[in-house]
Amino acid sequence: MKKIVVATKNPGKVREMMNAFRDLPVTLLPLSEFGPLPEAVEDGKTFAENAAIKARFYMRETGTACLADDSGLSVEALGGAPGVHSARFAGWHADDDANNEKLLSELRRLGLTESPAAYHCALAFCDTDGIIVTAHGSCPGVVRLTAKGSGGFGYDPYFYLESGRSMAELSLTEKDAVSHRGAALREMAERLASHLKGGKE
Ligand code: IMP
Repeated sequence: MKKIVVATKNPGKVREMMNAFRDLPVTLLPLSEFGPLPEAVEDGKTFAENAAIKARFYMRETGTACLADDSGLSVEALGGAPGVHSARFAGWHADDDANNEKLLSELRRLGLTESPAAYHCALAFCDTDGIIVTAHGSCPGVVRLTAKGSGGFGYDPYFYLESGRSMAELSLTEKDAVSHRGAALREMAERLASHLKGGKE
């Protein structure tokens, strides 16, 4: 079994990854197993850059192959914002409510009630020899001023799919089937399987 440390403090993400990689010969370990570690500096301009920065950083810190992700929301009317700043749109220690309030106020400032948008998720796996395997998933939709649903997290109540349902109205299984993270994890599972067999990406 190949040991892979997952560069996240979010136990929900570790569970999602375990599920996506259930057929692979890998054991996923949380970062917490390696004791206190410094934080990676996520100063990339794209989701993919930030995922690779984290994967390389924690591979070196732990001496173990590492899987990292970076995700967020891009809103067309806001020129792609909040993008890589999604988690801290309303400031460094902003919570979901504050970030959503900022999203709504930016739309209102432009006189809009909605805008096309997309969620993105980049995954990067860095092996102990420094080889990087990447995957990406996106989910198109529309952000609106009105909230619907109580599931999900982050911007989900304001993010609507083509079906007219908000992301926060979906069950976990439904969200996994359409979400940026679900798509990226499925692509990574395939690429990782090939990497572990020694195949080309
Ligand atoms: P991170 O990849 O965990 O750093 O997430 C970045 C931020 O993007 C989160 O704090 C959320 O604001 C937003 N985000 C990423 N994925 C989702 C999602 O599936 N639903 C809602 N918000 C998301």
